Amino acid sequence: MKIGVLALQGAFSEHIHMLRQLDVEAVEVRLPEELNDIDGLIIPGGESTTIGKLAVMYQLMNPLRQFARERPVWGTCAGMIFMAKAIGMDQPLMGVMDIVVERNAFGRQKDSFKEDVYVNVLKNGDSIPFPGIFIRSPKLVQTKGRVLMLAHLADGTPVAAIEDRLLATAFHPELTTDTRFHQYFLSLIQT
Ligand code: GLN
Repeated sequence: MKIGVLALQGAFSEHIHMLRQLDVEAVEVRLPEELNDIDGLIIPGGESTTIGKLAVMYQLMNPLRQFARERPVWGTCAGMIFMAKAIGMDQPLMGVMDIVVERNAFGRQKDSFKEDVYVNVLKNGDSIPFPGIFIRSPKLVQTKGRVLMLAHLADGTPVAAIEDRLLATAFHPELTTDTRFHQYFLSLIQT
């Protein structure tokens, strides 16, 4: 199995590090042809406007959309924004997931926070919470179609969702030492 991490901007090396810890081959993706031989793709956190502009510049937009029709994709934070079909703002989006997302919905950098979330689909996820790190995170304001919620904050705000093999988290599992979310993504590829 070989996983690609979109390496235009943001926290891509942390995802690569996490995957290698799990003994999975992980590569940086910057060019359309680098999508050809990977089994799944992670879009990291960072700045969604920058990721979008660079994806247009590198002619990655349509190859990325095509990839998402065939193979699993996971977006974390800015990656979740980039995967959404609607964000109420004009910026380049991959736009493959039936979710409406609001950028920076928890406030500014200083309002970043950590909150444990219970994620039933993870190993022991109902008893051992996952450390959610939220850095200028987006909010999932609406889900449609076949999208399922995977996690929410104590106040009920949804923070993770899945639509078939498209996964989105508002937080950053790659900045923790808990590998369960990465293992869950890998399980989408094996099935
Ligand atoms: N606020 C960023 C954006 O709008 C996302 C932040 C993050 O990925 N940590 O793109």
